[in-house]
Parts: sequence; C-alpha cells; structure tokens
Amino acid sequence: MNQIVMNTNNQTPNKFLAILNCQCPRCREGKIFSHSAFNMGKFAKMNDRCPACNLKFEKEPGFFVGAMYFGYAISIASFVSVAVAIVVLSTIFKFQTSTTLYVVSIITATLLLAPSNFRYSRVLMIHLFGGKQAEYDPNAAQISTTH
Ligand SMILES: [Zn+2]
Repeated sequence: MNQIVMNTNNQTPNKFLAILNCQCPRCREGKIFSHSAFNMGKFAKMNDRCPACNLKFEKEPGFFVGAMYFGYAISIASFVSVAVAIVVLSTIFKFQTSTTLYVVSIITATLLLAPSNFRYSRVLMIHLFGGKQAEYDPNAAQISTTH
C-alpha cells in the first residue's frame, strides 16, 4: 500500500510529454527554446544549455544537420494528413476537389507548420540522438542547482 502511494507522489516525467513541451531530455524540466513557437522573429532561438540542469543541447558542431531528416519526415506526414483531410471532407460535404485545391492547401499547411516542424525536428534529434549525457536523470536538475 505504501509503495503505491510513494510511486504516485514521485512520478517520472513522461518522455513523450517532454518532447511535446520541448523540454530537456535529461531533467525533463528545462525548456530547449527560449521563445514561444508563435514568436515569428525568435521561434528558432534555442537555449545553448538547459536552464535547469545545464545540459549542452548542441553536443557537437553540426549536430542539428541530422534534424533535417526529422523535418523531412514531419513534412511528408503533414502533406499526407492534409491530402487525406481534403478527401474525407470532400466526401462528407460532397464538393469537387482539384489539383489546385490540394497544392494550395498543402503549401499553406507547410508554411503555417514551419515553426513547429523546425522545433520538433530539433527536439527529436536531441531526445533520440543526444547520447549518454542526455539520458533521463531524475537528480540532474537538483545536482546543477547545488553547484
Ligand atoms: Zn535539463
């Protein structure tokens, strides 16, 4: 009984939620980006190090070149999602589709999603290829603040 209570009080932050919130892979607290995704001038600006545990996000020069592969995959997923949405909506609301409708919708969606695509491709790169120093450590934030 006590074990269950202890586990609910001391929950591990979820990795999926850390990715969704653009948080550090090691402490799952610190923000990777310094500004909001809706700030058009500064959405790409990253913190060099985690504000909570001091993890260096760009572990080597050119580390984020690999994020382009994630960006490519996210773009293809959004192309397919928009095309499927048009097919479903045209079936439900019985309207004619055209090549122009598909092209304009997909380009619009790509431009609107560009900031989140950029951010999530880097977040996935840090979380999946950050190496041993980026593995989850529940004490990382506390160790950093005591020094
Ligand atoms: Zn951190």
